[in-house]
Amino acid sequence: MRPEILFPLFSPVTSLKGVGPRVAPLLERLAGPLVRDVLWLQPHSVVRRTPSVISAALDGEVMTFEVVVESLQISRSAARPTRIRVFDQTGFMSLVFFGAYGSQLEQRHPVNARRVVSGKVELSQYGLQMVHPDYMVAPEKAGDIPQVEPIYPATEGLPPRRVRGFVVEAQSRAPELPEWQDPAWLAREQFPAWREALERLHAPQNEADLSPLSRHRRRLAYDELLAHQLAMAQRKAARRREPAARIVMGDLGDRIRAGLPFRFTAAQDRALHEIRSDLIAGERMSRLVQGDVGSGKTVVAMCAMADVARAGAQNALMAPTEILARQHFETISGPLAAHGIGVILLTGRDRGAARAEKLRGLATGAIKVAVGTHALFQDDVVFQNLQMAVIDEQHRFGVAERQRLQAKGESVHVIAMSATPIPRTLELTMYGDLDVSRIEEKPPGRTPVATRAAPMNRLDEVVARLKDAAAGGAQAFWICPLVSESELSDLAAAEMRVIALREVIGAGVGLVHGKMPAAEKDAVMADFADGKLSVLVATTVVEVGVNVPNATIMVIEQAERFGLAQLHQLRGRVGRGVRESACVLLYDPPLSETAQQRLDILRRTDDGFLIAERDLELRGGGDALGLRQSGLPDYVFVDVFAHRDLIAVAGDDARLIIARDPDLTSQRGLALRTLQELFDWKAGAGLRDAG
Ligand code: ADP
Ligand code: MG
Repeated sequence: MRPEILFPLFSPVTSLKGVGPRVAPLLERLAGPLVRDVLWLQPHSVVRRTPSVISAALDGEVMTFEVVVESLQISRSAARPTRIRVFDQTGFMSLVFFGAYGSQLEQRHPVNARRVVSGKVELSQYGLQMVHPDYMVAPEKAGDIPQVEPIYPATEGLPPRRVRGFVVEAQSRAPELPEWQDPAWLAREQFPAWREALERLHAPQNEADLSPLSRHRRRLAYDELLAHQLAMAQRKAARRREPAARIVMGDLGDRIRAGLPFRFTAAQDRALHEIRSDLIAGERMSRLVQGDVGSGKTVVAMCAMADVARAGAQNALMAPTEILARQHFETISGPLAAHGIGVILLTGRDRGAARAEKLRGLATGAIKVAVGTHALFQDDVVFQNLQMAVIDEQHRFGVAERQRLQAKGESVHVIAMSATPIPRTLELTMYGDLDVSRIEEKPPGRTPVATRAAPMNRLDEVVARLKDAAAGGAQAFWICPLVSESELSDLAAAEMRVIALREVIGAGVGLVHGKMPAAEKDAVMADFADGKLSVLVATTVVEVGVNVPNATIMVIEQAERFGLAQLHQLRGRVGRGVRESACVLLYDPPLSETAQQRLDILRRTDDGFLIAERDLELRGGGDALGLRQSGLPDYVFVDVFAHRDLIAVAGDDARLIIARDPDLTSQRGLALRTLQELFDWKAGAGLRDAG
C-alpha cells in the first residue's frame, strides 16, 4: 500500500493547474502520467537575465532592459505584427508581437509606460528588436523575472516556459518526507535533504548546478540507486529463503571435463566451481554466466548438468532459436551420452511419434538433459524431476517464458548465460539480484580477427575482395544496420545490397531480416551454415550465437551506428575456425572523434569486457542504448557513468540494510519503504528473474 503522504505526487498530471485535456497528453509524453514525473523533469540549461542597456545589446542573446514605451504601430491583422517602439537612456529598439491583438497590447502598454522587458534580442533589417518578449512587466514587478531561469525539455505545443510553470506547480505538491538515508553518509557526502535537493534541481544558479556531479543531483541519483538496489537485495534474500534440492555431488562432471579434448581455462574452472557451490547449498540457484561468445560457457553448463543428472535429476537447456539449440545439442550430446546420460533435442520441428517418444523419455526420467527451443515449455512437456534450467542468451526470453520453463519443476535451479559483456561497474545495476560468474578468458589458440575500418567510398574494393574470397571458398556475413525510423526502408536498403552483391558475387548471396517468419529465417541460416550460401546479408543482429566455423569475413555497414558491444558481438561470429578471419567496419565519413576512437578500440582489443568498459567511458553513459537493450534500467536521475562510484556504495548499503532489517520495519526501514514507493522499485516490480 502506498503511504498517504505520497498521494499528491501520485495524482495524474491533470490535477496540476492549467493542465487540461489539450495539454495533458503533451505533458504526459514529456514527463509521464503523474505529478511526480513532472517534478522529476530536469532542466538541461539555464538562461541568465542580467539587466543591461540597449546600447549593449547582443544579437541572439537573452537580455533584460528597463525601457519606456515611445510609440505603437498597431496591427489588426494576423499577417502583420504589432510593433512597440521603446527606448532607454542609451538607445531604441522594437518589441514585435504577431497575432491580431494589437489593441489589447495598447491598453496594457500605453505610450510613456515604463516596462522591464526580457527576451532574446535580434539585430534585423528593422534594427534591434525582440520578438515576443518572455517577460514585459512594470518595474515594481521586475522581481518576478527570474535572474537565472532553468530551461526544461519541451515538445511541440508545449514551450519550455510552460513546462517550467508546471514543474513549479508540481514542486509545491512535494511533501516533506522522512529521511531514508543514513545521516553519517549524508554528512560525509554533504548531501542536502530530499526536498532541498529537488528545490536545487529546479533552481540552478549556474552550469555547475546542472552537472550530474552536483551534490543535489548526486543525492537524487543515490536515492534512486538505493531504491533499486534494495529491491534487488530483497529479491535475492527471498530467493535464498526458498529451499531447493541439494544436489549430491559425484565426480561425473569432472570425468566429463577430463574427457574433453582440451583443458578448461581457469575462468571456466572457477565458474563451474561457483555453480557447484550453489547446487549443494540447499538454496535455489540463480546464477548468470557472462562471457564472450566462444568463451566456453556451454561446456561449463554441460558439466554442471552432468552433475545434476548423476544425482538423478533432470536438466533443460533452452536456446532462443532452433539453430542454436541444434548447435548446443551437437556440442553436448556426445560427451554426455558417452557417460550414459540420455540427451534429446526438442524443437518446434518435432511431431508425431518421434515427439511422443521424446516426451515419454522426459516423463519417465530416462532422459536427463533436454535441449530445445520454446518447444520445451509447451504444456504437454512434462518432466519427471526437473531441477536445473540453463537459459542461453537469457535476454532473448521474456520473464513469462522463463517462468513457464521453471514451473515444470519445483524450485528449479537456474543458470542464465549471456554473451553480452557488462562492464563491472554496471553489473550491480543490471544483475544485482543474481549471482554472477564472469568468464573473462578465452580458450587459448584463437587467432584474433583482423579488424579494419574503411570509408563507404571504398565499398567496391571491399566487394571485389569479398568476391575473391568467396571464390576461394570463404563465407561472409554482411550486416546492414537499422538506421531509419522505418524498418521498411531499411529492408529495402538491405535488398538493394543483396542485388548489388549478387551482380558481383553470384547467386550465393542470401538475406535474413527481422520481418521474416522464423522458419524461413532458420532455413536461410541453415543454408549458410551448410555452405550453400557464401554471403549472408542480415538487417538486424539475428542469431547472435550462431556458429559457422567456416565463416571468416564479417562486413558491417555503417558501423558507426552500432554500439561497441554490438559490433564486438557481431565480430565474434567469425574467427571461430582455424582459418584467419577479418572484419571490415564500413563507415560514412566523416567520423566524429568519438566514433573514430570507438572503432579504434575494436581494432586494438578482442576482450569483450574491456570493450564494454571503454564503450561506457566514451559514451559517458549518455547514449547507452545497447546497454538498455540488454537490461539496464531506465533511470531518472542516475547517470551510470557519472554516478558509477555510487553504484557500489548503494549495493553495499542495501545488503547491510536487508541483513539488519529484512522486513524494513525499523524507523529507517519505514522511510525506505516510502523511498521504494516513490521510485516504484518494490521488491518484485519490474525485476527480471535470471531464469
Ligand atoms: P560459449 O557457449 O561461451 O559460446 P562454448 O562452450 O560453446 O562457448 O565453446 C565454444 C567452442 O570452444 C566449443 O567448440 C567448445 O568445445 C570450445 N571450447 C570450450 N572451452 C574450451 C577450452 N577451454 N579450450 C579449447 N576449446 C574450448
Ligand atoms: Mg553460446
